[in-house]
Formats: sequence, structure tokens, C-alpha cells
Amino acid sequence: MDSSNVLLAKRKITKRISLGKVAIGGGAQISVQSMTTTKTADVEGTLQQIYELAQAGADIVRCTCNEQEAAEGLAQIIPRSPVPIVADVHFHHEMAFAALEAGVNGLRLNPGNLRKPAEIKEIAKEAMDRKVPIRIGVNAGSLHPEIYERFGGATPEALVESARLELEYFGEVGFDDVKISVKASSIPLMVAAYRLASETFDYPLHLGLTEAGPLPGGLIKGSAGIGTLLAEGIGDTIRFSLTADPVEEARAGRMLLESMGLRERKGVDLIACPSCGRAEIDVIAVAKAAQEALEARNLPLQVAVMGCVVNGPGEARAADLGIAAGRKRGHLFIKGKIVRVVPEDQMVEALVSEAEKLVAEGIEARLAAADPNAQSEAEADRAELFQVKGHDANHREVIVEKIRRRISN
Ligand code: SF4
Repeated sequence: MDSSNVLLAKRKITKRISLGKVAIGGGAQISVQSMTTTKTADVEGTLQQIYELAQAGADIVRCTCNEQEAAEGLAQIIPRSPVPIVADVHFHHEMAFAALEAGVNGLRLNPGNLRKPAEIKEIAKEAMDRKVPIRIGVNAGSLHPEIYERFGGATPEALVESARLELEYFGEVGFDDVKISVKASSIPLMVAAYRLASETFDYPLHLGLTEAGPLPGGLIKGSAGIGTLLAEGIGDTIRFSLTADPVEEARAGRMLLESMGLRERKGVDLIACPSCGRAEIDVIAVAKAAQEALEARNLPLQVAVMGCVVNGPGEARAADLGIAAGRKRGHLFIKGKIVRVVPEDQMVEALVSEAEKLVAEGIEARLAAADPNAQSEAEADRAELFQVKGHDANHREVIVEKIRRRISN
């Protein structure tokens, strides 16, 4: 997206495939995936979750197709889904046919547990006739036993070989509408496997760190693994595998792409200072309240919550909008410029109201509508706080003095 982004290596251009309306690979924008946790046979419950996932940023949703009732559920879900649906198939090849019959936009097959070449080729043939792409979803934890044995374990080479073998079966029937994943729960293994897959194949890659676990560890591990590869230009679609509400997965995927400059901002990016000796409010509580209120409105802005008016507006001047606390008042600022001063108990309300206006009217118009007295009121608050707390509210000079004394003794 942004060619001046120093974080990102040039993206590898892979072959393009399409899952319904979503293009993957070939330079298409990187898509976010998640997976439902409902029984697929529960049509209304599953659709509700799909809508929540789409709202949180998922471009594609996967549902398990593990039994006949699930396939029948898919037949009802797909026409009503706001995003393309992929059926996850393990062990039972007949479930792949059932999912295709239900009209899925994509299949995910695990070569580790769907192993009979004749069945794999039959599925590929039917997917080809229906123009449905297949993800070859290799997983270190369920690697084909023969390959595991041959490579002495779930090595990067073994994971890539499993994908290559499946491609060979597909190739025998002329099918190559494919994307590939080589997931593992270890970050080094996952990163090495995807690097090798990227060197080996021109097919789009679906990135994921499997079994990343609950929050916050799962988010950290997933971000480290997926983010490393994205920075290297590897990856066409991503999924966080979290032991959490899948909405968190969709949100995390979206946020990772937005924060790396790989997708346009869709929702709010709330930044907040870590708080320190100068803080005039409970920054954590106000940031949480602001996040909840702004997320519910899905406003594409970077919004800052800062603990003090002394440094807040300056430290967060890059944010579209922000609020800083001081003397029981909140200083509302746009791009670092104070536009209004409000009572402390109205900070969140004022922030949300200004965010809505900013999206509707634009920065110039909102700067022009600034309260003409705001700047001078803000200056008065800042000056008074300096007098009360001084220049060293965090007692840095005292600490530095203590360090010097200890070293000289
Ligand atoms: S100086 Fe102010 S804005 Fe910066 S961390 Fe401390 S309280 Fe927050």
C-alpha cells in the first residue's frame, strides 16, 4: 500500500485466486480470516457469529464441515453470509463433496488426515468443475506420518513437502486453484516453514501460528510470527488462532494489517499514554471507556487519551484527535491543536462527539469550528499545573541524584 513504509520489504507477487468476491494473492490487499466456534448446523447462531466477525474485520470466515448436519447448515448459511465461506474438512472426504454441494466459496483440506490420493484427486476434480479454490492446510501437529518419519519430525522441509505432495496430486487432475498454509505453534518453525514455502511455491500463502492460546499471549505470539513474515513481503491472507471469542481474532488480524500500513484503517486506533507522575486522571479507565464507545461507532480515526495537559497534546500531536486531562478538565485537541476544554466527567462523551463530527466534516472544518477561548484556557491550565507539580513530576532528578550517590560510594 505505502511504498515509503520502511518496515515492509517488497511483497512477493503470487498467483491470484478468488474466494467469492475476495481476491487473494497477485498483489491483492491482504485479507483477514477467522473461524466460527458455533456448531455449523446451528444456522442462526453461526450466521450471527459470521456477521460479528465481518463487522470486526474478517473478509473470509471458515466453518467446520464435520458432519452431514454441518453441510446442510452451510447450504443455508452461504446465501445469507456477508463474506465468503470456507469449509474446514478433516478425515472425511465425503464432507468435502457435501460442502461443495452446499456451495462453499473455498475448501480447506488437511493433507495430514485426508491421505488417500484417489480421494484427494476426486475432490480436486469437483472443486475445479465448480471453480472453488482449495487451501492445502498443512499443520505441524498433524503432519502426514510418512513425511514426519522421512524428515525426522515436523521440520520446515517436512511441512513444505506435505504441501508439495498434495499439489502433485492436484496437478494430476489439472487443478491449481490453490493457496497454502504451513502452520506450527512454534514461531521459529512457523516462520522458517513459510519462508521456505514462499521460496518454493508461487501460490498465495495463508499465514497463521496455530494454537497460539488465550489472550494476551496468543496475540503476542501470533503478531510476532505473522508480523515477521508480512514485514518480509510474505503472505496473502492471515488468521490469528486464539483461544478466545473469534471476534478477537478478526479484530487482531485487522489491527495488525492496519498498524503495519498494509490495510486502510477501518476502525478506531486508540493510543494512550502509559501514565506517569503527571497523570491527572485514571488513564487506563478513561482509555477503556473511550475505546468501547469509539469501537461501537467504527470510526476510522487515530484517537489519543493522554494523562496530562502538560505533555499530552504535544506527545500525541500525530493523532487525528485526542484528549488530555488537567485541573479537572479535559483538553480536546485535533492534530495537537486545542479546540475545546470540557469538564473532566465529560471527557469521553466530548471525545466521541468530536470523533463523529471529525469523520463527517473533516479536519479543516473542525479546526475552523474550534472554541476561540480554548487555547488560552488550556495555556492557563498548563501553567497552573507546572506551578503545582513543577518540571520534575516523575522525580527523575531525585532518582538520578540517588544513582550518583550509590555509584560514588
Ligand atoms: S507526561 Fe502526561 S501524557 Fe506523558 S505519560 Fe505522563 S501523564 Fe501521560
